[in-house]
Order: sequence, then C-alpha cells, then structure tokens
Amino acid sequence: MQVALIAHDGKKAELVSFVLQNKDVLQSASFVTTATTGTHIKQAGFECRPVLSGPKGGDAQIAALVATGEVQLVFFFRDPLGKHPHEPDVQMLMRICDVHNVPLATNPATASLLLKGLLA
Ligand code: PGA
Repeated sequence: MQVALIAHDGKKAELVSFVLQNKDVLQSASFVTTATTGTHIKQAGFECRPVLSGPKGGDAQIAALVATGEVQLVFFFRDPLGKHPHEPDVQMLMRICDVHNVPLATNPATASLLLKGLLA
C-alpha cells in the first residue's frame, strides 16, 4: 500500500511522532510525501518518495497519484490556524480523495482510527 504523508509546518512534528508511534502497523507501507515533510520523515529514519513541496505543487502531485490509484491512503495533518498560499491545492486534494473514495485523515485522532480499521 502506498500512503501519502503531508503536514503543514505547524503539524510536521505531530506527523513524525504519529508515524513513529505506528511504525509497526505501517511497516509494509511505502510513503510518498511532499518535499519538506519528507525531509522530516527521512530524519526520523523512514524511507519515502518525495514530490514537490506543497506550495510548489506537491499536493497537486499527490492528488494526481490518488486519482490514478497509486496512493491508497492519505494522512494530511493540516494546520487550521495557519494561512497557506496553496489552499486551493489542499482543497483539490481533499476533493480528489472524495471523488475516488480514498481514506483521508487530516488530524492524528482520525489517522489513529484509520489505522485501527486497517488492523481489523
Ligand atoms: P511541505 O508541503 O511538506 O513541502 O511543507 C506540505 C504542505 O504545506 O502542503
């Protein structure tokens, strides 16, 4: 399974700690990430395939992977208190997940429930 990992700057630490806490469940997954998120994921010891940074089109690239069936699960820890120049791309990625019925978690609580569902 290919899992997309994306976090806004204010949420990158939370995403890394989520992945570390759930590394056993995620061990058979491969990760595709936006560029800066990927740097943090690699620093935590995981392999990943980075695309462009979110503001440079990375969210749009991940949306394309969702649309073509190459990504089956998306963890996008959004920072609801920040302003993001690429908000249209964020909305587009969420819409594409809905169009293709691909699970999308935008916060750690939902992400944990999704992983529990994978184990069930
Ligand atoms: P980043 O992009 O991982 O390159 O920071 C994430 C985003 O803001 O969409």
